[in-house]
Amino acid sequence: MLSYNVATLLRSAPGTERRYPVDDVTMDIAPDLQLAAPINGEVRLSRTSRSILARAHLTTSIEGYCSRCLKQVVAPIDVRIEEEALPSIDIDTGLPVDATAEPEVLRLDDHHELDLAEPVREAISLAEPITLLCREECRGLCPTCGVDLNTVTDHSHTEEAVDPRLAELARWRDRAELN
Ligand SMILES: [Zn+2]
Ligand SMILES: [Zn+2]
Repeated sequence: MLSYNVATLLRSAPGTERRYPVDDVTMDIAPDLQLAAPINGEVRLSRTSRSILARAHLTTSIEGYCSRCLKQVVAPIDVRIEEEALPSIDIDTGLPVDATAEPEVLRLDDHHELDLAEPVREAISLAEPITLLCREECRGLCPTCGVDLNTVTDHSHTEEAVDPRLAELARWRDRAELN
């Protein structure tokens, strides 16, 4: 899944491009970030003079919580990825490539396999909106009592919120006075 063998592409002339559809791919993103829909889109791999250039346009959606009312929401995600991957093994000689000069770069594995799972995971994490809202005009929760202000009209606290235990005491006192 999201892994492509590019041995043939490495033997092709620079500029050669391959396109791969991404259909309903599911994956774990992060412990606190779950996909709400499979990933769809397209991966394009092109041969450059020294590498494989991977470009992808992917859509999915993630689960989250409205930052105002804490209701669960689903947010659409649309990411574009551009990642250059260098070989680990020289395609012509079969010998390992000296990777020390560019330790940070994405590498194909020893079988010329390009794994895009990590770049995709990263792109989706970064695309997560910082503040999710169930809707733009969400009124959030009452800071005093926590009631969802979207579900009530004219909610206000004219006096200090009454502690429920005191309220019980007041009812008991009222009853006592009636007797
Ligand atoms: Zn909300
Ligand atoms: Zn309130």
